[in-house]
Amino acid sequence: MSKLQTEILTSDASGLATAADVLARGGLVAFPTETVYGLGADARDNRAVARVFAAKGRPSFNPLIVHVPDLAAAQSIARFDDISLELAQAFWPGPLTLVLPLRADSGIAPLVTAGLDTVALRVPAHPVGQALLHAFNGPIAAPSANPSGRISPTTATHVADGLGGKLDAIVDGGACTVGLESTIVGGTPPALLRPGGLPTEEIEKITGPLAKAGDTITAPGQIKSHYAPNAPVRLNANAAHAGEVLLGFGPMQSDLNLSITGDLIEAAANLFEHLHRLNDTGKPIAIAPIPNTGLGRAINDRLQRAAAPR
Ligand code: AMP
Ligand code: MG
Repeated sequence: MSKLQTEILTSDASGLATAADVLARGGLVAFPTETVYGLGADARDNRAVARVFAAKGRPSFNPLIVHVPDLAAAQSIARFDDISLELAQAFWPGPLTLVLPLRADSGIAPLVTAGLDTVALRVPAHPVGQALLHAFNGPIAAPSANPSGRISPTTATHVADGLGGKLDAIVDGGACTVGLESTIVGGTPPALLRPGGLPTEEIEKITGPLAKAGDTITAPGQIKSHYAPNAPVRLNANAAHAGEVLLGFGPMQSDLNLSITGDLIEAAANLFEHLHRLNDTGKPIAIAPIPNTGLGRAINDRLQRAAAPR
């Protein structure tokens, strides 16, 4: 990935307008929330989201949390049951993430949810995060703004130290107050998927005892066949066998190609859409080899899960 000039922006109206512009052009902007600094991208733009994974050096495509300004925006993306609605009304804005069924017309890029039909949503309370969401006027997908495996950043300096040169801008909004990631709840009945900044006791006042993750919802990344097409998947294929459809990479004959030019960011951006389309053919899927460098590692991780015996 070529090195970027990372701009440090102020959190006033002009800094936020620039940040919103960068996001609208498919750029990456780190911004403060009350939990930690997030590495934000337009949640409707697969390519921008692919760049988030590349910047963090994530070895797998774990789904990202989508940040929205308010409950109404969240409801245009996901379907709320009664308990989720109560939780949102009680704790948003705040450090609670809800995993909910994705609406068909949500516009959310498949890479954000790693191809799942659920989405993680949150309304941050931080005034700068809120102001950026209003300036951008769209959903922002954001994991913590640190290289994969490093400690989460709670100041703009932490972000610059970890990711400088790999993102377009950082909105400096001072130190985060919670400093812990958001609590994640999802499933019916609701289960605790990750403890975090909002104490479970507070949530259980509304939900009663939370179920265990795995009982009502599967936490992504924990099962081998996390994204599983119905049909068999064959990896490292250089050509299709009779009856197969071929997912290509680089210049080659194929039914669909992740990136004709062999660009791993483009390949990541196309991955889930292409898998869904090939799955819809009902035929076995053969997949060309993908180099195991940079984003290729995350792509291969996902493909190995898709090909895992089940
Ligand atoms: P991070 O963005 O690093 O704070 O991590 C986001 C967390 O949300 C990860 O633990 C994900 O596994 C979880 N998550 C995001 N989307 C979903 C989803 N659709 N279903 C279950 N968990 C999710
Ligand atoms: Mg993180």
